[in-house]
Amino acid sequence: MSPANRATSRPAKARQEQKEPTGSRSGAGQPLEQWECDVLVAGAGSAGLSAAHAFAAQGRKVVVVGKVETNLAGRTVALFEGSLRFYRALGLWPRLAGHAAPMEGIRMIDDTGSIFPTGPKEFRSREIDLDAFGENIENNALVAELAQAAREDPSITLIEDLIDEFELNLSGARARLASGGRIETKFIVAGEGRNSQARQIAGITVTTWSYPQIALTALLAHDKPHHQISTEWHKRSGPFTFVPLRGREGEPCRSSLVWLVSPRDARRLQALPPEELAAEIEDESHGLLGAIRLDGPLGAFPMGAMKTSRVTGMRMALIGESAHLFPPIGAQGLNLTLRDIANLVDCLDGVDLDEPEEISRALERYERQRARDIGLRVRGIDILNRSLLIHALPVDFARAFALNFFSAIGPLRRALMREGVTPHGPTPKLMRARPPARRPSATRS
Ligand SMILES: Cc1cc2nc3c(=O)[nH]c(=O)nc-3n(C[C@H](O)[C@H](O)[C@H](O)COP(=O)(O)OP(=O)(O)OC[C@H]3O[C@@H](n4cnc5c(N)ncnc54)[C@H](O)[C@@H]3O)c2cc1C
Repeated sequence: MSPANRATSRPAKARQEQKEPTGSRSGAGQPLEQWECDVLVAGAGSAGLSAAHAFAAQGRKVVVVGKVETNLAGRTVALFEGSLRFYRALGLWPRLAGHAAPMEGIRMIDDTGSIFPTGPKEFRSREIDLDAFGENIENNALVAELAQAAREDPSITLIEDLIDEFELNLSGARARLASGGRIETKFIVAGEGRNSQARQIAGITVTTWSYPQIALTALLAHDKPHHQISTEWHKRSGPFTFVPLRGREGEPCRSSLVWLVSPRDARRLQALPPEELAAEIEDESHGLLGAIRLDGPLGAFPMGAMKTSRVTGMRMALIGESAHLFPPIGAQGLNLTLRDIANLVDCLDGVDLDEPEEISRALERYERQRARDIGLRVRGIDILNRSLLIHALPVDFARAFALNFFSAIGPLRRALMREGVTPHGPTPKLMRARPPARRPSATRS
């Protein structure tokens, strides 16, 4: 019998009871909480919580540790078709859909002032037989819903704490919590973000670099409808992007903004009163969406990138920003992360986590499968970003030529769109099924 079968066949009541830690006494007589699980997920961000659900669905007993943070200012994630299939397959999409808005088109506008103009390019999802390229959702709503679903799932124990110490060895893995509790596990999924401690313990080295850019983020309300189209202006400081957002009562037209600017401009813009900042955003967008109002606080995120020497250690695998980092161009970060998770789930399918050799073979597969996808995104986004930052005629020419070429030739254009939403290569099981989305009545603009 596979581990999946063993765990799912437990009666519901017995599974519920596993949420409680087993108590013992510390030297000082204080109760010392202890948990045992198949898979320990470190980090309760969008990556960690998504991984917890995916492994619970595989029938593993999961503990996920991390503070549930729902205070990221102005941040949204555009989730493409593959990612929507992932959440649909896990039964999570119905609770996320109420926060999301579809993206049926992507418009790119060269606003660099280059002498090699490209003219606006518009890509429509129906060209590749999709109703939408994907859906845009507020980060805070995504994390809050995933955390709530984890609390309701008897196979997942969510511990809102930090991990202080990891121990990885052939016979098993252990973690100690900041509050003193202990977790015994068979496998660790490291989703604690860019400063992953599990990655350091496993001796995985990283190469990091930074860009002279800050991403300013904001939720906006506006007068004119976005028509479900995301618009990306390519400027000398980086992209300035509007992505459709779900309307709310009183503000039926909303979009999110990601604006890459120099650190100096970021300081200036952050110091502006909201009305003046909104007016600058309106000017930068050439009035496309009419009058703009800020619909929440402004966020500011320094831009950097990172690649790792490996994505696996003993009884451990990296996912999400523990494994890769790059600027938010083409909305790839969490989409790539969900492919990490879906691939890892496939690699560990049917693997007996008590058998170190079986785990090693599964991790070799994961290492092979992720190298290309991650490498392509980190390098591709680096080239795209630098092509905007470097003011040189040959670079401007190459960028304009590439965009004109790819958008003019039908099969190439469609291949490019498909690569963005469902990258080629073997599709992991969680991203294969495509049942129709269950969408509650939406406020669309
Ligand atoms: C401006 C911007 C726009 C973006 N837009 C998109 C988009 O449109 N589409 C897209 O796909 N991606 C997008 N991304 C990328 C996406 O937001 C990130 O990839 C994603 O949020 C990263 O999630 P994560 O869980 O890997 O990391 P994090 O969100 O950093 O989560 C890691 C968590 O681990 C916790 N942690 C750290 N140490 C420990 C410890 N010792 N113990 C326990 N927990 C710990 C942290 O507190 C944190 O909560 C964007 C990124 C930016 C900056």
